[in-house]
Order: sequence, then C-alpha cells, then structure tokens
Amino acid sequence: MRSYIEESNFFKGINPEDIASKYGTPTYVYNEETIRKCMREVANVITKYPYRANYSMKANSNLTILKMALEEGLNADAMSEGEMRLLIKAGFPSDRIFFVPNNVDKSELQFAIDHDIMVSLDSLDQLDLFGSLNPGGKCSVRINPGVGAGHHEKVVTAGKKTKFGVAEEDVDKIFEIAKKHNLKIAEINQHVGSQYLDPEPFLQAVENFLRIADKFDDLEYIDFGGGYGIPYHKLDDEARFDMASFTERFTALLDVYVEKHKDNIPLFKSEPGRYCVAEGGVILGRVHATKQNAGKKYAGTDIGMNVLARPTLYDSYHDIEVLHNGKAVSRDTLEEVSVTGNICESGDLLCKERPLAHIETGDLVCVLDAGAYGYSMSSSYNTRPRAAEVLITKDGKDKLIRRRETYDDLFALFVE
Ligand SMILES: *Cc1c(COP(=O)(O)O)cnc(C)c1O
Repeated sequence: MRSYIEESNFFKGINPEDIASKYGTPTYVYNEETIRKCMREVANVITKYPYRANYSMKANSNLTILKMALEEGLNADAMSEGEMRLLIKAGFPSDRIFFVPNNVDKSELQFAIDHDIMVSLDSLDQLDLFGSLNPGGKCSVRINPGVGAGHHEKVVTAGKKTKFGVAEEDVDKIFEIAKKHNLKIAEINQHVGSQYLDPEPFLQAVENFLRIADKFDDLEYIDFGGGYGIPYHKLDDEARFDMASFTERFTALLDVYVEKHKDNIPLFKSEPGRYCVAEGGVILGRVHATKQNAGKKYAGTDIGMNVLARPTLYDSYHDIEVLHNGKAVSRDTLEEVSVTGNICESGDLLCKERPLAHIETGDLVCVLDAGAYGYSMSSSYNTRPRAAEVLITKDGKDKLIRRRETYDDLFALFVE
C-alpha cells in the first residue's frame, strides 16, 4: 500500500497540517467511520446464537469512543473501578458492564456489587473475598486453561505463562468456595492472548474452553476473551484477520456445544479491545530535527514514549508515514532512519533503522494503528502534558474529544 491515510481517506479531505496547526502536536486523530465499522464487525461475529461482544475499554477509554461502543450495541469490559465509573458516565447500564479485575481490594469489588455489575474473579482468594462481600450472589470466574489448550503450542503457552485466572485443575475448589458462600457461578471467562492474525489459536482455545464449560452447571454466559489482531504492517500489505471464515469456524464449534446443551443455551461472549479501535487511530507528530549520528540518520519528533509506549514497552511495530506539506511523501525511494521522540531515554524510539520515505525537519509524521493501547497507556513522563485527541466525524469534521493536558493539570496534585 502506498499510503494508508490517503488511500483510506483517513482525514476525509482535511489537510493534516490544518489539524496540526489547529490542535498542535502530538495529537491523536481518530476516524469515527473506521472505529464504528470495526465495532460492528465484532458485534456480529456470531449471529446464529445469543452473542455479545464486550469492548475491552482499556484499549481506548476516551468517553466519545465509549459512547460509540454503546451505540453500536457492544457491552464493555472494565478492569478497574475507574473504568467502571467511566462506563457509567458514558451511559452504559450496569447489565452491559463486566468487571474483569485482578488482585483488587474489597472496595473495588464492593463498588461493582453496589452497582449491580457482574464481576469476574481471577483467583480463589478473590472469589472467597467476593463471596464474603456478596453471599448468595452471582459471579464469573476467570479460568486459566493451562494444559490441554488444544494441539496448538501458542495457545498452551498463552495459558500457562500468565498470572491470570484460576488454574483449570482448581475447578473443584471453585465449587467449594461457591458452596461456602452460596454463590452462583453464572459465567466463566478466559482471555488467552492478544493480536491473533491467524484465528487458529483462538479457535483452539474456544474448543478447549467449551470442554471446561462442561464441568459447570447452568452457565448463563461463556466468555472466550479478546485478541483479534490487526495488520500493523499494512504498508507492506499484510493480510487482515479473516472475520468471515473465523465466524464460520467459531459457529461450528458452538454448534457442537449447543447440540449438547439445547435446553440451556448460554449467551456467548468475546472481549475485543484492539480490533475495535486500533486502525481507527493515528498520531500526528512534528519532526523537529534530523541528523546523522555515526552514519545513521535520526528523525527527532515530539512523539515520545510518553505519547506512544508500545514500541518501547513491547518492541511493537507501527507503520509510519511521512507528510510533507500535509501530503504523503512517496515511498518509491526509501532511506533508513530511526524515528525518535523527545524523551531523555535511549529506548525512546518509534522505529530503529527502518526504510522510510524521505524525512525532513518540519515534516509531519503519522504513526498508524495507534488507536488501541495508545493514549490509554500514555504518560506525562519528562513532565510533558498528555496529547490532545481529535475525532474526524462521519460527516468529515474535525472535533476535539479530549483537550491537551496543561501544565496546570500536571501541577494540580502537588501539596505544598
Ligand atoms: C486486554 C483484555 C482484552 C482485550 O484484548 P485485545 O487484544 O485488545 O482484544 C480482553 N479481555 C481481557 C480480560 C483483557 O485483559
């Protein structure tokens, strides 16, 4: 692909330079149409049986985006009391919120109980705590499928090497604790990994989870977790997650379960985060300096690891487009360059020695696929105010949906 932002008309005819001069840089820019389209896709993964996709809001918790999820018929997953509060503020009714915490104190569990929000318990200890707070109540338990997660090595690894969930071999202990507090285990949930472009591991995990589900009686919900991947290498024409064939194979696995549980078909659920929002977001940043160091070219921008943590945190790859006077610079000739931020850390790199279009001081760079785990993981490291967030609306207008943090915001918490 020559240019994603131009071929997809990401800015809907607005010159990115106009966005940069109106709102400054760095700025997160979202495309409403793309986000809604992705949300609709995940909402309709299963149509044959009762099914709900829960938007995992930790991917992007902007209030405007949460309202889009609500309008598109998604439920939502919260990981903290703060996220529950934000979903309530966005208008989500309690029965469309699912609280999936780990290692929380009783006040967070109590908040969910007081607000009639379904909770997933991630350990036997937390289940016991929940039971003591809410005897006779209903809840979900997060299972870590550990061994036997199918023939696929990737899934087994995903199950075993994480801190999450109650180990599958402890299922009997779940029943003991439930009995002690007269709890109904109405749901089981799992989340075995992230960024699958190949549906195979996810499907293996589904099949395995349905086997575990057979150990429980009268489940009202079975939740398979999130993880659908997006093509981060879209400039190199990486293939998309094949939703249509995924739907077909996922449905076939549910057919088997439903056949056995005809009288009590649960609501099937998944928990996509990234897929909903990643491709609908980019970051615009300014190149403030270019230089050669020991024969290598560096382009220094205002998109530091405080703005986008993923490359530093996980070595994540994000495509980068170069915009000269707001137009994508041709990629016919590429030059190797490391694109960095303005943070005093050697790990502050968006990409290292990557062939990119020619970059000059004063250009804009546009970091693609930054809508998920972008702003929500950003920080004010180096005492830099967090970026602004702008939405390109369906009708092609630019709209500020979170103002840039100010120095006053940053200093407001000090007690002298
Ligand atoms: C983060 C998370 C998700 C979403 O994962 P994606 O890879 O963004 O789809 C779903 N479920 C749980 C429990 C999570 O922690």
